[in-house]
Amino acid sequence: MHGLMQDWPLLVHTILDHAALNHAEREMVTRSVEGPIRRCTMADLRTRSLRVAKALQQEGVRLGDRVATMAWNTDRHVETWYGIMGLGAICHTLNPRLFAEQLVYIINHAEDRLLFVDLTFLPVIQAIRDQLPTVEKVIVLTDEAHLPADTPPGTLAYESWLDQADDDFTWARFDENTAAALCYTSGTTGNPKGVLYSHRSNVLHGLMANQSDVFALSSSDAILPIVPMFHANAWAITYAAPMAGAGLVMPGPGMDGASIWELLESEKVTCSAAVPTVWLGLLQYLDETGSQLPWLERVVIGGAACPRMMIERLEGEFDVEVVHGWGMTEMSPIGTIGAVKHATASLEGEERVDLKTKQGRSPYLVEMKVVDDEGHAQPRDGQSFGHLLVRGPAISSAYFRHEEDILTEDGWFDTGDIAHIDALGYMQITDRDKDVIKSGGEWISSIEVENAAVGCPGIAEAAVIGISHAKWGERPLLIAVRAAGSDVSKGDLLAYLEGKIATWWMPDEVVFVEALPHTATGKIKKTELREQFSDYRL
Ligand code: ADP
Repeated sequence: MHGLMQDWPLLVHTILDHAALNHAEREMVTRSVEGPIRRCTMADLRTRSLRVAKALQQEGVRLGDRVATMAWNTDRHVETWYGIMGLGAICHTLNPRLFAEQLVYIINHAEDRLLFVDLTFLPVIQAIRDQLPTVEKVIVLTDEAHLPADTPPGTLAYESWLDQADDDFTWARFDENTAAALCYTSGTTGNPKGVLYSHRSNVLHGLMANQSDVFALSSSDAILPIVPMFHANAWAITYAAPMAGAGLVMPGPGMDGASIWELLESEKVTCSAAVPTVWLGLLQYLDETGSQLPWLERVVIGGAACPRMMIERLEGEFDVEVVHGWGMTEMSPIGTIGAVKHATASLEGEERVDLKTKQGRSPYLVEMKVVDDEGHAQPRDGQSFGHLLVRGPAISSAYFRHEEDILTEDGWFDTGDIAHIDALGYMQITDRDKDVIKSGGEWISSIEVENAAVGCPGIAEAAVIGISHAKWGERPLLIAVRAAGSDVSKGDLLAYLEGKIATWWMPDEVVFVEALPHTATGKIKKTELREQFSDYRL
């Protein structure tokens, strides 16, 4: 017997309807690519998104067609997102940091028909334009006055393109399982793979992101999503904020400490989210200028392990609550969140920081377990580690146009991470399965050693890889980057690590380099480091 409730599909654009009706006056503030700060309201956002949908329809874009964006977090990017999805087309966010060959592969694999691009990234697209046969038009997210004079035919200014359409448009209505958005993983090995989100998964994930232990957004908040919309949906914030009526503050191209601080201050931002590198930049700016963070209440840090010192400094010196999160593109992306709970709320000092360095608990709608090599579930004892498997309604079941089966027989997705879970449900990642260092039959967590190392004064970044060793199989090599102006030595660094990690985890050697290689999503590229140091002998 079915329940007798209305058939009301979970469609992404219903979020904008809600925001425009109930929070019409709430602002979205953008640092524009052209420079000035721009403001609009939730009501304006909906109107302009409707116009995007209508203009796309006039272009002949239909249900299921792919339309790409390559853009910073801005108002124009948000309205194209909603416009594309509100028509039933699929919004394909492109990561501009990918190599040209990867972009060509992705755009052709997705068969994108139109491409919206920020001025910043126009040269990236121009350079590969003749290799993109499916792309009919390139629309530059700017006005006529800012469009470069030498743009070729088929490349238009967004504002003029949008002027052709009014807002007399009714959102399309279709099944909630219809595809809404497409995002390719950065693909450290092989070609990038397309993660295809549905309207239903995006709405459910947006609701999940608003749970009180996750972003906990309310209409009193102003949130600054620094994590890019092209990196796994800006961690759901562009859905969760309009749902809650929270103000959106969009950083555009200004990702440096000074630009971020300026927005935090002028817009009285209460909540923000970014990868650790961004917070490092902000902390450096705060140190240099003596600035404070009077409005900021909480920050979500994830995408890579949040270093201990970042938690200590933001919470201790600046009174900003740190919520450590873990996730991946395939999970929409939120997987766990490290907020304290009833049983951990009274922890103080070191114990609180210990807890916060863990990646956290799964919110409702994510199930996770740790299994050994044979697939047997490991106890939740905070020690037994193994492969981290997940399932839920906003987690991939397959990749776009890929034959390969990606789930286990009983429907779990292997995250490729190695982790343990404690009795209170807090999960801690020890490594990527490909990065694990095996020494004397035991595993060394490269993440924990790196985490401790970046706490050492004068160290900007650190990576640990396994180097083969006659007796132990593998031993850790620490590769570090000094902060500008620092002359920190190997001896200083090893002395700093003493007592912070197990003695047998101590790196056998330290090598200083000018810079570390990164992936398009800002992670340290361990594969490249291992190649670089393949001849290294301890
Ligand atoms: P990519 O395209 O680079 O794979 P993802 O965001 O999908 O981008 O990367 C997901 C991976 O990032 C996770 O499987 C995990 O290894 C790593 N990761 C994300 N958040 C954290 C975190 N808080 N701590 C440690 N690793 C993390």
